[in-house]
Amino acid sequence: MKHTITLIPGDGIGPEVVEATRRILEATGVEFQWEVVNAGATALEKEGSLLPERLFESIKKNKVALKGPTTTPVGGGFRSVNVALRKALELYACLRPCRSYPGIPSRYENIDIVIVRENTEDLYAGIEFEKGTPEAEKLLSFISQSQREEVRKDSGISLKLISETGSRRIARFAFEYARANNRKKVTAVHKANIMKFSDGLFLSVAREVASAYPDIEFEDRIVDNLCAQLVQRPHQFDILLLPNLYGDIVSDLCAGLVGGLGVAPGANIGDEIAVFEPTHGSAPKYTGLNKVNPVATILSGVMMLRYINERAAADRVEAAVADVVAEGKSVTYDLRPERDSTTAVGTSEMTDAIITKLS
Ligand code: NAD
Repeated sequence: MKHTITLIPGDGIGPEVVEATRRILEATGVEFQWEVVNAGATALEKEGSLLPERLFESIKKNKVALKGPTTTPVGGGFRSVNVALRKALELYACLRPCRSYPGIPSRYENIDIVIVRENTEDLYAGIEFEKGTPEAEKLLSFISQSQREEVRKDSGISLKLISETGSRRIARFAFEYARANNRKKVTAVHKANIMKFSDGLFLSVAREVASAYPDIEFEDRIVDNLCAQLVQRPHQFDILLLPNLYGDIVSDLCAGLVGGLGVAPGANIGDEIAVFEPTHGSAPKYTGLNKVNPVATILSGVMMLRYINERAAADRVEAAVADVVAEGKSVTYDLRPERDSTTAVGTSEMTDAIITKLS
């Protein structure tokens, strides 16, 4: 069966790592028809919009997309491309497996943690009021009155909204994922001791959902304590369930445990649509240099293959990546123990090496 997939090259290093992944996915023999659509700064330049309508049309039709990282221009009032995309398509679950592969330089071995991050709410919802605007002043005077406490009039405001609905669907996603993938434990992460009505709600809903899954162990951690424990004893964790902002930060921490952003894949998943993309951004300073690691995007492609039920191909690609990084010869600079570019290969040479292992 031929799979029609929306392919979003993205900005910066995006086109290089997406092209590497496309070549590898095609080398598996699985048949693809790619619908290439721009997003981000490239789309703004070529089509006058960060998120052109035809992007949404293509993803809604095909239900599956492979996306390179995009750049959100700083200033100019632009909202994040990714936040807007995830919200518009209701991609409420961000799934980021962080797994050690032998050969990747790291302080730890045998890490196998899966991050399940809520993707649509929290401080990331983008509900903000700029200092000095009539809306901000109105809200500040309402807060002063209702809290009976003076708040500074020259404050900017970003709202943290966490709903019962949003918390329930992401908690269910985490437990269903645990069952389907034979995982043993879910740890909910929060700061409910301080933010009782937002993080507190997230935690109480997670607890309630957990009671319907007696076969999966459930525990919780306060986010600061979690960070310390991740650095000291990461092997105790299995699935981490987090609200949006903590999920973003802890994703990079966990990527650091397994060798860095160059090897950290991800997916944004809703009830009907899924967009696969690496955890890392567009790393503009490396654009067009054939230098960065394609593995994070290739492993996002592996997740996509599993999602579209091409499991044998997914296993083959993952094994080929594991072989190449274990040998440590045809790898990019970030996977060399001494980070020495003179002994590293480029993005496309590493891709060739992975393709050779496939055949
Ligand atoms: P970044 O992830 O792009 O880069 C940070 C550093 O990580 C790089 O300088 C590089 O040293 C390293 N790195 C990243 N990817 C790598 C790879 N494949 N191989 C080797 N090393 C790699 O983060 P940033 O510099 O904070 O953000 C740059 C832009 O990316 C911003 O515009 C930001 O908004 C955007 N961004 C997009 C996404 C997304 O599209 N999903 C995610 C994060 C950031």
